[in-house]
Amino acid sequence: MAYSYVCNVCGKKYNTDSLTFQCSCGGMLDLDDFDISFNNITKDEFSLFRYIDALPFDKDSNIWKDITMGEGLTPIVPFNNDNPNLLVKIDYMMPTLSFKDRGAVVLISKAKELGIKKIVQDSSGNAGTSIAAYASRAGIECNIYVPKNTSPKKIEQISSHGAKVYIIEGSREDAAKACLEAAKNGDSFYASHVYNPFFYQGTKTYVYEIYEQLNGNMPEALVIPVGNGTLVLGVYYGLKDLLNSGLISKMPEIIAVQSENCAPIYEAFTSGKSYVKEGTNEGTLAEGIAIAYPKRGNQILDAIRITNGQVIVAPEYYIMNMTKKLARLGFYVEPTTAATFAGYLNHLEKNPIEGKVVIPLCGSGLKH
Ligand SMILES: *Cc1c(COP(=O)(O)O)cnc(C)c1O
Ligand SMILES: [Zn+2]
Repeated sequence: MAYSYVCNVCGKKYNTDSLTFQCSCGGMLDLDDFDISFNNITKDEFSLFRYIDALPFDKDSNIWKDITMGEGLTPIVPFNNDNPNLLVKIDYMMPTLSFKDRGAVVLISKAKELGIKKIVQDSSGNAGTSIAAYASRAGIECNIYVPKNTSPKKIEQISSHGAKVYIIEGSREDAAKACLEAAKNGDSFYASHVYNPFFYQGTKTYVYEIYEQLNGNMPEALVIPVGNGTLVLGVYYGLKDLLNSGLISKMPEIIAVQSENCAPIYEAFTSGKSYVKEGTNEGTLAEGIAIAYPKRGNQILDAIRITNGQVIVAPEYYIMNMTKKLARLGFYVEPTTAATFAGYLNHLEKNPIEGKVVIPLCGSGLKH
């Protein structure tokens, strides 16, 4: 089956075997509709490729088999004994220790299928480590741009996978700009978790797994950290698939969490806007969601609104406390992950929720 990119602003289509990563009108590219079936789960495949019929690969495609490291099928357990309805999905139990492996394995398998030899990417850490690991496994040359303040352990991890690391003076946005220039002017495929829509086809498996692991009894709400929206949008696509397959009759609400010190999506959501204005990053421990100008802001707002969801913020003072509290419960996570809990538990004090809620543990504390 052929897949094509489609611009979400003007509707122009592009071949996925081109190096195009953005529409000539400036719009972001999505995947044009393709047939999926969630109903056929390959039960003897113990990775997210058990959903191969719902992923953008031909049924008899084998390329992913040389690239997968068994990512996916992460555990779901109660937060603690006092909160049986608050469930955590341990998505740092992944080959490179973050949920980004869901998107990276699908994107890199696709790049390999398309015959790509060289990629560039920019990241503040976890996406870079994930793309670097899978690119190396796929035998694709990899160049990653990171901002100067990226944690040394993440940089070390990226380069140990054989990727070339470009450390850019300045902010996360400056690293993105440098990478974009390289992508525009060179002969590389831009393997971006933000721009490339194949990445979101991987992150949607987060929701498929919840559906399967909870025997089809979907939670009331899904609490999701949001910076660039790779998990929020993936979750939304996954829910849409479940709804269209007739497996659920209603989407759980998406409760998206930003850092109070970098909250452009929160600002737009609470003021009723349909687009996100460039915000500022005032500095936050939650570096993984500190995105001042998310490229898919309008899509993120739409997704949250369609699920009847909301956007909340994590109070900065609460993040370090929560990192320690999670460690005492056995979960060694990075502060960005603790911020998701800080935001949600703070919100819960005034807005109790009946029913089950699932929160992801997106990143391991070992890299921080
Ligand atoms: C990437 C990341 C996020 C945020 O994902 P977005 O795609 O930017 O919304 C949250 N937590 C961790 C640990 C991450 O690596
Ligand atoms: Zn366009």
